[in-house]
Amino acid sequence: MSRPAPHVYDRLRDLVAIPDFRADPESRKAGVVHEVFTGEPLAEIPEGTADDVVAAVERARAAQVAWAERSPKERVKVLERFATEVMRHREELMDIVQAETGKNRASAQEEVLDCLITARHYASAAPGLLKPKRVPGMLPGLTKAVVRHHPKGVVGVIAPWNYPLNLAVTDAIAALAAGNAVVIKPASITPFCALAGAEMLYRAGLPRDLFQVVPGSGRVVGTAIVENVDYLMFTGSSETGRTLGRQCGERLIGFSAELGGKNAMIVTAGADLDTVAEVATRAFFSNSGQLCISMERVYVERSVEQQLIEKLTARIRAMSLGPGYEFGAEMGSLISRDQLETVTAHVEDAVAKGARILTGGRPRPDLGPLFYEPTLLADVPEDATCFGEETFGPVVSIYPVDSVDEAVEKANDTPYGLNASVFAGSDSEGEAIAARLRTGTVNVGEGYVAGWGSVAGPMGGMGISGVGRRHGDEGLLKYTEAQTVATQRLVHMGGPDFLAGRRWQELLAPATDAMRFLPGR
Ligand code: NAP
Repeated sequence: MSRPAPHVYDRLRDLVAIPDFRADPESRKAGVVHEVFTGEPLAEIPEGTADDVVAAVERARAAQVAWAERSPKERVKVLERFATEVMRHREELMDIVQAETGKNRASAQEEVLDCLITARHYASAAPGLLKPKRVPGMLPGLTKAVVRHHPKGVVGVIAPWNYPLNLAVTDAIAALAAGNAVVIKPASITPFCALAGAEMLYRAGLPRDLFQVVPGSGRVVGTAIVENVDYLMFTGSSETGRTLGRQCGERLIGFSAELGGKNAMIVTAGADLDTVAEVATRAFFSNSGQLCISMERVYVERSVEQQLIEKLTARIRAMSLGPGYEFGAEMGSLISRDQLETVTAHVEDAVAKGARILTGGRPRPDLGPLFYEPTLLADVPEDATCFGEETFGPVVSIYPVDSVDEAVEKANDTPYGLNASVFAGSDSEGEAIAARLRTGTVNVGEGYVAGWGSVAGPMGGMGISGVGRRHGDEGLLKYTEAQTVATQRLVHMGGPDFLAGRRWQELLAPATDAMRFLPGR
């Protein structure tokens, strides 16, 4: 079935009513969201204005006060119920994700599962992370020091179109658990996933003002979010990340950004090449390569290069490609005409400069207006655009190397630093290579799911791939202001009366130096 079931259209009509737009409904513009597999209109969505953002932040700010007063244990009950709702409504969520993005169902399921495991993780971890912690005080026994974490207030989330459900919801979950309110702007072409996420949170008992979705353009709604919130979580391109970083810097508010990548896979001579070829269908082509952590470069030891190319091309040619709202297709569509044009241009440019197409390399209008074949290139020269720039599509280049050292050097030779993948003769060899790579995550024996799905560990980018981290302790604590409360007891810092003045000052340096013998110093 390459069209959404009729009930999906009913659900979208319900979701349109979620944004709390009160002002001038007459003059409000509406955008049209298209069903990607067919290119037909799916639903209209009213566009927010800067005033809508100001009003949403005001409501969020008021609601946040009572939310922050609830204990973390009480707050995370919402997350537990949200996880249950996600599990219960997963088929419907996948339908909406697929309708808006044109991805295959397995890639849509990744979004749903990320919501599930991230909600469960923070439901369990948040109370411990937010508990006030004793740390050694200045003067042992006399200074008691306790670190507390206060919520930032209202967190703004600006999300991209490629994983529009989980990237709208999972960062927000951590912010909510930490006691914040959230105002979110989804990408213009994929507003319904964020609205579906909002609906699940409301059903789970979250007060509506605490999580508000304002659909609209980056220029209008995005800018207003940066101008009004207390912290910004952004996922998108490195270029937009730079702009938003500057704006946050002007306001001196905290900023965390998950940006682009040009991720490399390293395959050593000892690797199991059949496994590499099997994993490649996901590592290269999940969501048609429109995945920040998917692989776009492969460095393989020369002695096994030909063998790997044969196995990869055979496996990629056998991939099932096509529309459909059920599991089966290994790859779906690209999302937009812009994406199709970029992918086509990158391949044509590489070929014009001497690259060889090993497999793929063509649009597939017979399958749908925006389909493009999974593509493997060889001999890509350094002046080709796709050599160093992110394609963000189903295009991967393979390069032979003479040693593991050369592979590591080439993998690191990029301003990006998001994700990497290593296939070696043993786990220990793979892990040793991983330690030399400058990326926020490295998957040994996998492409990206293992690192992404290990939500107890941080995930993010080095270099121009990001600032800060999502997931793990940092993914929650970044939404808080740490406060140290130091209580001085018995003796104030000027010294006891019998030692006050010069004697106390003379004693201070040797006494401070001697504190190094105390445990924990
Ligand atoms: P994008 O153009 O940077 O847009 C991302 C979001 O920012 C959209 O909601 C967009 O709104 C908004 N926006 C654009 N310009 C803005 C501005 N001047 N002020 C405020 N908001 C603005 O990125 P994209 O093309 O949607 O996403 C693809 C990129 O995201 C790729 O580079 C990919 O690698 C990266 N990405 C990274 C991660 C990660 O976790 N590291 C995950 C997913 C994607 P509009 O929709 O209205 O333009």
